Amino acid sequence: MDSVLRESLCCPWCSASFTVTEACPASGCEGAYAVLQCSCELYPVVAGIPVIRKGPLGAQGQTARMLSELILSGKQREALLALLMPRTPIEDLVPRWAAHLPSVPGRGLLMHLLGHDAIRRWTSTMTEFFSAGPEGKTAQDYLTVGLSAKAQQKNYHYFMHRFGQPRQLVALSLMTMLQGAAGPVLDFGCGIGLLTRHLPRRMGSYPVLGADLSFFRLYIAKTFLTHDVAYVCCDGKPSLPFRRAFFAAVYSSDTLFMVPDKVSCSRELQRVVHPEGLMIFAGLRNGLIDPEQYPVRMALPPSAYEDLFHSLPQRVRGNTEVLDRYLQKRGPALGQSSASQVLDHDPWFSLVVAGHEDWLVDQGPFDEWPHAEGMLELNPLYRPVGGPPNDRGAVLYRQTFPSSWYAQEDGDCRKYEPEQVWIAAEILRDLALGRRTPAMEELIARCVIVGVPERFHGHESVSPCHT
Ligand SMILES: [Zn+2]
Repeated sequence: MDSVLRESLCCPWCSASFTVTEACPASGCEGAYAVLQCSCELYPVVAGIPVIRKGPLGAQGQTARMLSELILSGKQREALLALLMPRTPIEDLVPRWAAHLPSVPGRGLLMHLLGHDAIRRWTSTMTEFFSAGPEGKTAQDYLTVGLSAKAQQKNYHYFMHRFGQPRQLVALSLMTMLQGAAGPVLDFGCGIGLLTRHLPRRMGSYPVLGADLSFFRLYIAKTFLTHDVAYVCCDGKPSLPFRRAFFAAVYSSDTLFMVPDKVSCSRELQRVVHPEGLMIFAGLRNGLIDPEQYPVRMALPPSAYEDLFHSLPQRVRGNTEVLDRYLQKRGPALGQSSASQVLDHDPWFSLVVAGHEDWLVDQGPFDEWPHAEGMLELNPLYRPVGGPPNDRGAVLYRQTFPSSWYAQEDGDCRKYEPEQVWIAAEILRDLALGRRTPAMEELIARCVIVGVPERFHGHESVSPCHT
């Protein structure tokens, strides 16, 4: 198991250190599978990711102890499959009329009978996909299969179209502060690692740890987005599985507003970060704007977050202001908080809490565009219109939102991303060859060209191997 995991982890229930039993070395997956034991529980390490949660975790309700026993008996693949298999989307698999049956006793059994054949086919397809392993696949393949249920479409679009999104740019802007952190950093609620992948280059030799509730997301992060990060699957209940003051900084994007119990969560984050350290919360939903769009517990006003960290120096900035500076290639202005009349009208805001005031200053310019880190390609929101190239061989692309929800949540990208854009033939060719040229800079500045992880999706049509 990763050494930073050994140093940082402790049981969230009994606070004991773990003894580690590695899986049978003959299994061919040394280091990736193990069992952690404390005074109260066994927790599995699956595909290199410790799963420190209680209650049902697997698709068939398998618990941490059951998964640990699978590992100890040499059934690593079964443990992995149990955690990767999505919940059966029964509503999608029964005849359409049956999905509208009223909620009465026996409904579940009836639905299973009505969807019997479709459920069997679905289970077999999923088992085959996940059993085959990640070789030759991409993050998109996993997202397409794992989030294929209708109820997951919103999440699918969120992950696939995050590049260049206003909240992504704000989160990248705030990330520049971490360059001053001298110690490990925790990405709390790291998801599939779309921001986590930017952290190692800012942290130098200091370790980066990503934590998330979802094993499936962490598996994608670890397999396809960034290898030089250690990941932990945990839910923060009753506490986080990390030692006191272990981290120099906590970084978190689009997460804290989703956490139901913000008081204990913020208390826990303060416990695991060094008293002199830094906490960055990018992307908090403002409860003062369109409160009917979110459950009340999610959308709180900015003042509620200030109260959670009331004893510490902090700044609250409206995301629009952070974004405006980002588009001028400058980091966030943290010398002071946004004026309340600005904050009260911004649907999203961000909070930075620090162990001392020295952290909280206006940040300078970026040397490079953070959103261009990775393999350059056209922002996935842009699709060719389909007409003929113009007389200079340029192709017309149009920005297309994947859903009305996306347009509502992230439509602010229209401020800097053009609705239509002609892309010169040589730019398309250079992108395919992995070359960055001065002619691309204007398109990078407007997020028409963005940096994408290498194994994020397939590149059949643009790979130089095929040209
Ligand atoms: Zn324990």
